[in-house]
Amino acid sequence: MVDDTDDLRMDLAAIRGVKIAFDVSLAGISRWAIGGPARAVVSAVTAEGVEQTLRTMRDRRDPFLVVGETSNLLFDSEGFDGVILRVGRGFDHCEIQETTVRAEAGISIPQLARLTADAGLSGLEHTVGIPGTLGGLVTMNGGSQRRGIGSHVGRVVYIDSDGRRGELSQEECRFAYRRSVLQEMNVVVVEVDLNLDRADAAVVHRSMDAVVESRRSRFPEHLPNCGSTFLSDPEMYATVGPPGRAIEDVGLKGFRRGGAQISEQHANFIVNTGGATSDDVLWLIAKIRRDVMQATGFAMDCEVRYVNKQGEVSAAHEAAQQRWPGGTSGGDSLPAHA
Ligand SMILES: Cc1cc2nc3c(=O)[nH]c(=O)nc-3n(C[C@H](O)[C@H](O)[C@H](O)COP(=O)(O)OP(=O)(O)OC[C@H]3O[C@@H](n4cnc5c(N)ncnc54)[C@H](O)[C@@H]3O)c2cc1C
Repeated sequence: MVDDTDDLRMDLAAIRGVKIAFDVSLAGISRWAIGGPARAVVSAVTAEGVEQTLRTMRDRRDPFLVVGETSNLLFDSEGFDGVILRVGRGFDHCEIQETTVRAEAGISIPQLARLTADAGLSGLEHTVGIPGTLGGLVTMNGGSQRRGIGSHVGRVVYIDSDGRRGELSQEECRFAYRRSVLQEMNVVVVEVDLNLDRADAAVVHRSMDAVVESRRSRFPEHLPNCGSTFLSDPEMYATVGPPGRAIEDVGLKGFRRGGAQISEQHANFIVNTGGATSDDVLWLIAKIRRDVMQATGFAMDCEVRYVNKQGEVSAAHEAAQQRWPGGTSGGDSLPAHA
């Protein structure tokens, strides 16, 4: 790659409405504390900043990736040869009118959930413990208790790769279990309208407290992780149980590879006990997938998304499968000590 660091610095410095850091260690900003260097991290403060950043990236033809809090992302330990556009803190204005909430995409989910509870609105109780941004949650159609944020979305405002604004209705977002059309669109979500229901503020806060308490007792909190690694498939759930149970049943709870470990507390979480690499995590994913497949006949897919050095994003099990093709087919291409 041609070293055009000075050009990149000049082009990014000309953008208004963003904060910029160069040569950033992704391990330092990622929830999993994994990832090599990125050329720059641009943090959006205004929608105009997002528009200008996208136009600059288009003109430069540099790879770029939008992130929120990185709570669903595994960066490669070799890093990312491009620019990260971060839509998070500083891009988090929120207005509530009657039962409609209009919020910027960078608002943190727990903060948004509590604001809606204060306003006597119900609907976001299941999201209160999810450590992400609204933009990330809507893109992933995230949620808990078998629910997704999509059912409350009224409208999504985005900016496309030419820096133009567009809107999607709820129907156009095509929400499905942890899926939305936004995952394929290569756009940046900047604003979301949510439609909620009137309720008693104290009751909503109590339900949220209960959700937070129940998660605290079940999920590992003290080591870096990215939440649930594998998606729960309804057919598998009915016969075998959730992914955590299946992983426990094949004896992998606590299993380690380098600095990565299948959590002792909840087997669907992979924790970084210190110095884990992206390969350590992908290897564990390949091993879990192979062992559970052999024991149950179900191939579990990942919720977590892997970002390669070029900034391409894929479900982490696809990356693991490419690297260790035997991992899901019962072959023996995982190292012998697996
Ligand atoms: C401890 C823990 C618990 C978790 N529990 C849950 C849970 O209960 N339920 C659940 O669903 N998830 C859970 N997660 C996963 C994660 O928090 C959610 O997927 C969250 O919605 C991701 O938000 P984010 O802002 O961190 O997105 P990121 O991880 O930064 O990004 C996720 C995807 O969204 C894209 N994206 C992010 N922001 C934007 C934007 N503004 N515009 C366009 N695309 C964007 C990214 O490119 C990426 O593809 C958990 C994670 C952790 C660490």
